[in-house]
Amino acid sequence: MQIELKLQQIQQKITQACELVNRSMSDVHIVAVTKSVSIERTLETLQVGLTHLGENRPEGLLSKQEMIKTPAVWHYIGSLQTRKVKQVINHIHVLHSLDRLSLADEIQKRADKQIDCFVQANVSGEESKQGIGLEDVESFIESIKDHNRIRIIGLMTMAPNTTDEHVIRNVFKSLKAMQLKIAEKQYAHAPCTELSMGMSNDYEIAIEEGATYVRIGTALVGEESEDLT
Ligand SMILES: *Cc1c(COP(=O)(O)O)cnc(C)c1O
Repeated sequence: MQIELKLQQIQQKITQACELVNRSMSDVHIVAVTKSVSIERTLETLQVGLTHLGENRPEGLLSKQEMIKTPAVWHYIGSLQTRKVKQVINHIHVLHSLDRLSLADEIQKRADKQIDCFVQANVSGEESKQGIGLEDVESFIESIKDHNRIRIIGLMTMAPNTTDEHVIRNVFKSLKAMQLKIAEKQYAHAPCTELSMGMSNDYEIAIEEGATYVRIGTALVGEESEDLT
């Protein structure tokens, strides 16, 4: 199936999720996760009208940017090694995976301008998951208030590996509660108004629980090995 059809289906589901909880569609942004597809398919993604692209490897990001001249908003969604910061930080608009002080320090050192960042939280406590424990998110954000190259626009998480909707929903609820708590503090460096949560399998739940950015890969662009048409 083509990206355009997949997008229509996803938009329909997003509309339903928004209606269910009385949210406006315009508050939900789709980040098309193109990390495992070709430049051609990434171009197709832009052609259907999507503008936010998500990549998780420096090589993939840079090679695509070299070939793609259409304006796009580039999101870096994967864990980012400190030594790779200088390669990518001035090529992205949004980082979804700020999860440690050493990474913040390196961004501060290498960024030419202020970068919009999500603090990645590990809500479920699964050891395989990246991110700062939810209870430490606030003190982490306070600790980087003098890093003037970093603006914390929100919190990000990945749901645990389970099909239990209730468990997934509670993870999203907890992240939303923390986001609100931090937003209320009105930190100058951390407006924290956004929530990056929800992927192919759980974006509807995430939207019901307040996601403003959903990161969708397989359900939208598939994987390169798969024939979309
Ligand atoms: C790959 C990836 C996604 C997209 O996952 P799908 O299940 O293919 O939608 C979203 N977020 C992160 C951090 C990822 O690494």
